[in-house]
Amino acid sequence: MTAQADNAHVAPWISGTDLRRLAARAGQTPFFAYGRSAIEARVRLLRDTLPAGTQLHYSVKANPMPAVVQLLAGCVDGFDVASAAEMALALDTGVSPQQVGFAGPGKSLQDLRRAVAAGVPIHVESVTQLRHVAALGWELGVRPGIAIRVNPDFSPGRSGMRMGGSAGPFGVDAAQVPALLDAVVAQDLTLAGFHVFWGSQCLHAPTIIEAQEQSLAMITRLCAGLAGAPGFINFGGGFGIPYFPGERALDLHAVGTAMHAWHARLREQLPGTQAVIELGRYLTGEAGIYVCRVIDRKISGGQTFLVTDGGMHHHLAASGNFGQVLRRNYPVVLAQRTHSHRLERCSVVGCLCTPLDRIAHDVMLPVAEIGDFVVVLQSGAYGRSASPGDFLGHPPPVEMLV
Ligand SMILES: *Cc1c(COP(=O)(O)O)cnc(C)c1O
Repeated sequence: MTAQADNAHVAPWISGTDLRRLAARAGQTPFFAYGRSAIEARVRLLRDTLPAGTQLHYSVKANPMPAVVQLLAGCVDGFDVASAAEMALALDTGVSPQQVGFAGPGKSLQDLRRAVAAGVPIHVESVTQLRHVAALGWELGVRPGIAIRVNPDFSPGRSGMRMGGSAGPFGVDAAQVPALLDAVVAQDLTLAGFHVFWGSQCLHAPTIIEAQEQSLAMITRLCAGLAGAPGFINFGGGFGIPYFPGERALDLHAVGTAMHAWHARLREQLPGTQAVIELGRYLTGEAGIYVCRVIDRKISGGQTFLVTDGGMHHHLAASGNFGQVLRRNYPVVLAQRTHSHRLERCSVVGCLCTPLDRIAHDVMLPVAEIGDFVVVLQSGAYGRSASPGDFLGHPPPVEMLV
């Protein structure tokens, strides 16, 4: 199956002419380009599909390019951050600190102090974190807002990457939450809400629906003994995007329909509690491309290799080394040759001295020449910032919001 034929529909805004213009603007290959209108369209689709009042958060780690974060500040309701640097990035957009959530299993005292001082709610993931936050509140003379990140006691069906429902470093086991809630009351902290993160990159709507419904049931149960309803429940996200041949887009409509039903139940059971959905790749992933150039072609053992000036130091995920178990090819297009009928079987590799540095393994592509652009689609999330940029010391890619 050809990567090109199977996935060429994904970024119809890329043509050979666009690419030459983009490359001129970047001043070099390789570069990442993120489409402003594609990101905005994604947010509009979510607003049109999810129940009114759903708080849409962006998970900054998916793509922390400042221009992207700034763009999203204008169209989402808040940010989820996982380091002091991401927190600063979010606050620099002018968003209110209460609209930022600081999660992560390992928060240093220094990072916690910054968050408490800034008034950013801390998504507490252990007894130690709770103790530190309480102490910092006394020290700084403020009443910190916290949310409890719960490691759910359920494990939804077929999520791509599970991050809950079993032993793990993320969040506090549901069974330990009642004791933590007692500590919140004893320490005179403000419970801003709950955070449930059950997984990532899920393309199966029934799994997402099940996870959301189980999250609501679990949090309702945990809230039974509380004086008031929590300010928010962050239901996680998990909305996936198709990367590989044969994968189909998430049925967002089905998720939206189910959300309308449980949203009504939430308003009944916990009046005043807001529902938050946090998304990373679903907002930016499909809006981005990574572009490098063929700088050599060679034959070895009867196989054709296209060598590019890019690679895993810019785009680890496309090389298959960012958590994939079975290596599969990201969608790759030779945009200047989409009308060519001369195809060849080849592998597209990066410029690093390691066999791990593969962009596309054993695919059918139009016959490429030195100088051709290689476009990797679905590259707007977990690209540059998730890659070992220092490895071998080649220059970094340019990033552009266009
Ligand atoms: C990474 C992360 C996300 C975003 O995941 P995507 O798959 O990019 O949507 C959301 N929430 C938490 C807690 C995360 O760690």
